Amino acid sequence: MTDVRILLVDDDPALLEALPAALRLRMEHIQIDTAESAFEALDRLRETDYDAVVSDIKMPGKDGLELLMEAKQVRPGTPVLLITGHGEHDLAVQALRGGAYDFVQKPIDRDYFVASLERAIQMRRLDRQVIAQQALLEQHARLLEHMDNGVMLVDANHDVLYWNPAAHAITGLAPVDVLGRPVGKVLAGWDGIIGEVPVSSEPSSSPRDATVPLDVGGRELWISLSGVEFDGGVVYAFRNLTEERALDELKSEFVATVSHELRTPLSAIYGCAQTLRRSDIDLDEATSQRLLEVVAHECERLSRIVGDILLANQLDAGRLRLVQEEIEVDVLVAEVVEEMRASLGNRESIKLEVSMAEPVSPVVGDADKLRQILLNLVDNAVKYSPDGGRVVVRVEPRDGGLRFAVSDEGLGIAHNEQQRIFGKFYRVDPNLTRGVGGTGLGLYICRELARRMGGRVSVSSREGEGSTFVVDLPLVPALAGERASAVSRTA
Ligand code: ADP
Repeated sequence: MTDVRILLVDDDPALLEALPAALRLRMEHIQIDTAESAFEALDRLRETDYDAVVSDIKMPGKDGLELLMEAKQVRPGTPVLLITGHGEHDLAVQALRGGAYDFVQKPIDRDYFVASLERAIQMRRLDRQVIAQQALLEQHARLLEHMDNGVMLVDANHDVLYWNPAAHAITGLAPVDVLGRPVGKVLAGWDGIIGEVPVSSEPSSSPRDATVPLDVGGRELWISLSGVEFDGGVVYAFRNLTEERALDELKSEFVATVSHELRTPLSAIYGCAQTLRRSDIDLDEATSQRLLEVVAHECERLSRIVGDILLANQLDAGRLRLVQEEIEVDVLVAEVVEEMRASLGNRESIKLEVSMAEPVSPVVGDADKLRQILLNLVDNAVKYSPDGGRVVVRVEPRDGGLRFAVSDEGLGIAHNEQQRIFGKFYRVDPNLTRGVGGTGLGLYICRELARRMGGRVSVSSREGEGSTFVVDLPLVPALAGERASAVSRTA
């Protein structure tokens, strides 16, 4: 036993001298403080956390029983041994009832006394260890409560025993919905993925984890998950990777779409150039012109794709500059329709019309961005129209601004796709089963440009009947006679 410290209390100075000497003989490393009264003992107890207190029961002023009661308040964990007079059984019983660890009768049987004191000291030691471990456990529990990673404890019956706040935040599932329930019921898809999740037998500095999908409350969640076995089950730690995953998917979609979209015009240009270069065939003037037109047309397409990618990037980075200038709306709309008409190519049977109930007076805004929105919408309307279809661009004043509506009689868009089509790179028919290509950036750009201009784009559509894309912009009329100067701002 090392560094043990006890307090000996007795009003008899002879005993205060004799007893420590006897104890030191039998117990190594023991430090013994003495007090001649209960009052002095309580003062010492307040200062020092003793391993045990030994006190005479009969003392003037405040007796051993009173000391015992007060010592329990000051140091609840410190064991108190009381020394009773010979045959004072009632006092001994009172002492034990009052919470004394043991009592020793006079004349003191030294062997019994030392054995009892050693047990008391040992008990105090264990108590302290338990308290320290409890504090450690509480600290760990607090740590788990404040961790960013989800932590879940699953017992041998596969029931969830612990669910930290991060697990709640990541999944949206509250502890009451989870605790005590089978993990397979709580997390749909668990049984299917659990085989892929690495579970080690001890924590490692570089744990491996698996990235797996889970269906939580109807939404797909991608989490990276690993487990460590413990006696009664497995503790799992997980992180939410849904956003990273979506970003990765977006990146792959970007590469797939863009490379496909670039390859098509490039191979057309390459084919035309090769044909024009051939010396073994005699190309007449008209054929050469047609091939050159294809080259020019495909080059325009390439430059539009690259332009769209750059614009989407500018929008994402918040680096788009908006210009405030006067826009002659009717002229701008007519130009857009003319430009589209000129590039109809083999879709020339499509009828492009403009409908303006009343002349629209000039407004202030960014003409280029408005042109870009309308070009994208009309381009789509043509692209997704059947041969001979009608595409109409309507302009009308609405709620202190202007409403532009582009309608077609094309294949339409299913209801569940109508919000998704505004997403970046989103295409309803990515595998081109309908043979119409695109980057999936057009509508994303339209929506973002309209937003930056304080407006919005919406769609109404019926499959097989056609679609109408509506752009509402808060474009205010330019004051008559006043030329709006070109002012730019970043949006
Ligand atoms: P892209 O046309 O390059 O694929 P968009 O962002 O312009 O990309 O359009 C996204 C998707 O929305 C298209 O793939 C298409 O399926 C659908 N879409 C857009 N406009 C129309 C339209 N007028 N009619 C039918 N579908 C359309």
